[in-house]
Amino acid sequence: MARINENYQKLPGSYLFSEIARRTAVYQEAHPEAQLIKMGIGDVTRPLAPAVIEAMHEAVNDLASAETFHGYGPEQGYDFLRSAIAEADFRARGIEIDDDEIFVSDGAKSDCGNIGDILDVNNRVAVCDPVYPVYVDTNAMAGRAGDWDAEAEAWTNIVYMPTTAENGFCPAIPDTPVDVIYLCSPNNPTGTVLTAEQLKVWVDYANEHDVIIMFDAAYERFITEEGVPHSIYEVPGAKTCAIEFRSFSKTAGFTGARCGYTVVPKALVREGQSLNAMWNRRQCTKFNGASYVIQKGAAAVYSEQGAREVEETLAYYRENARVIKEGLSEAGLEVYGAVNSPYVWCRTPGGMGSWDFFNELLEKANVITTPGAGFGPSGEGYIRLTAFGDAEATRTAVERIKNLLAK
Ligand code: PLP
Repeated sequence: MARINENYQKLPGSYLFSEIARRTAVYQEAHPEAQLIKMGIGDVTRPLAPAVIEAMHEAVNDLASAETFHGYGPEQGYDFLRSAIAEADFRARGIEIDDDEIFVSDGAKSDCGNIGDILDVNNRVAVCDPVYPVYVDTNAMAGRAGDWDAEAEAWTNIVYMPTTAENGFCPAIPDTPVDVIYLCSPNNPTGTVLTAEQLKVWVDYANEHDVIIMFDAAYERFITEEGVPHSIYEVPGAKTCAIEFRSFSKTAGFTGARCGYTVVPKALVREGQSLNAMWNRRQCTKFNGASYVIQKGAAAVYSEQGAREVEETLAYYRENARVIKEGLSEAGLEVYGAVNSPYVWCRTPGGMGSWDFFNELLEKANVITTPGAGFGPSGEGYIRLTAFGDAEATRTAVERIKNLLAK
């Protein structure tokens, strides 16, 4: 008899965004005239940069003739992209990363989930709370999370590190021993960043205790403030303790095209084994590489024209983030994030529950947000808004919220 992975049975009922979609659909059906504005799910809306589109068209043409045709590519990614990434994202910023420490993939979500393949099932995992749900759910699927405690809305074997306004959105080192720590900066959902000094504490802890840090820098390109680390490898000692995830999704509009990469330093060794060699083995066995066309498109992000065009789109979203943050602050709300991130994290007024505030904004302002409680117990009392929408719709949404709160 085939047995199933019972860990899947333990997963709580509905994924956050399905529940938001369900509530939205119910409301829209009852109020077909309502002009809803979506500021919930973190998906981009601007088209790909012309330089990227051009490169993808050229790559399609390559596939059309036998001389330039490409079949299976290297599982780790094409050299042209690996070296462009290592050069522009790291070496040009003074960080020594070799091309063969870069593994190109179809996105950071897959890598954040798949990385668990090279980790023991008994590792104790710590996450920031609130947290990007993928880290938690993939560990739960692998059997590392224990059981789901419905009352606490938390897994019994995951260490949740509160990351709230009270501690300046920098979690404290857990007082119980952990083996794997997920950090995300700029953070989803709070939109806040960790400084080099704050990261150094984690890097030193990880090196001292043979811990591995999973550092998610999917929103790195949204950093505007000087001095904020774009990579954990800017912190001395990080190469012996950290894996870094990056994505072209939010930075260059690849949410639909799909491309990201993971950095696994060769200096990262645990129990005498090179994590770089293990991840290489995992990818060669289970992954056949991101598509040639998409990798060509991703490489164009590093061209002069591509970089300029991508920057214009980022500026568009940054302006949305500014509009949201300023507008909600004027409305008297306590607002975080936005400055180095496309996310705005907002405390609910008067201690309201986050699903209650979500409902109020849906029903009375026709604006769809994400309730903070969906990101973990410490997300209760907050909502997240995204800056990825149309600029005019964003301004309208902010006006509606201001009008509602003025009543
Ligand atoms: N990491 C974080 C923190 C995210 O918010 C997301 C997407 O929302 C991802 C990773 C996944 O990105 P990708 O589209 O590359 O799979």
